[in-house]
Amino acid sequence: MGGTLPGSKRRVRAESKPIAFRPEAAQPYDDRCLSWQYDAGTVSIWTTAGRLRNVRFTCSPKALKMLCEYRKGESDLVERDGVFYLVAVCDIPEAEQYEPLGFIGVDLGIVNIATTSTGYRAAGRGLNRYRKRQLALREKLQAKGTKSAKRLLKKRSRKEARHTAHVNHVVSKTIVTTAERTGSGIALEDLTGIRSRVRHRKDQRTSLHSWGFHQLAAFVEYKARRVGVPLVYVDPAYTSQQCSECGYIDRKNRVDQATFACRSCGALMHADDNASHNIRRKGETVWTAGRESRAPAIP
Ligand SMILES: [Zn+2]
Repeated sequence: MGGTLPGSKRRVRAESKPIAFRPEAAQPYDDRCLSWQYDAGTVSIWTTAGRLRNVRFTCSPKALKMLCEYRKGESDLVERDGVFYLVAVCDIPEAEQYEPLGFIGVDLGIVNIATTSTGYRAAGRGLNRYRKRQLALREKLQAKGTKSAKRLLKKRSRKEARHTAHVNHVVSKTIVTTAERTGSGIALEDLTGIRSRVRHRKDQRTSLHSWGFHQLAAFVEYKARRVGVPLVYVDPAYTSQQCSECGYIDRKNRVDQATFACRSCGALMHADDNASHNIRRKGETVWTAGRESRAPAIP
């Protein structure tokens, strides 16, 4: 409606400015403009210079299988540092959810990226060290402020994002595989508002934002869906203050970052283990409540 009338500000602006593509922006192609030949490992693509045929692409055998079976819709062409990448959309059907025998509680954190109630612990130490190095380097480059420094900075931050994503893939896969093998469901804390909830020293704040809690949770969720592992989100209130043995809640139960010592029953645990057990229990409650509401009503 408004804004497209002849002579309107927006229209004049739109018409006077030619459409320009940012050099690094993704170019979307539908199936008419880009077609895949999986067996040959090539694509055929329309360009400003006409149709380019037999452009070879490379990917892992696993990715190729997924392409053959599930690729659907648009593909994006992206250029990064002189290399062209094709980003394909795959529409993977979800497996049917099974009825879990129990739940695995997953506590996400900074020192330990993930701790599960089954005893799996993914330490953030490697990531933390890596990030510290990156931060130091970034400060050096930012101080320089030259164009090449800026380019290098961009390249660095992409590399860092890839590294974090890789770690999150490995961790999420371990969690989902364990759940599948044991016929369990997965309970995660509802991360909405994690930034306001988690209180910590200033120097930890940068690491919290960049760890990609949301990414890890998102990876766990999509991997779980793919294989039919039930997943529930639980209310994060008191998961770190409540004793998983007796249920007593007290902020002082959490002695320090790593130690949980119940002031009521005297239970002594690693703080992350305690939290993961609370999350597991809450997950079971959420699932049971959901099952009752899912059950058909008696007429
Ligand atoms: Zn206790």
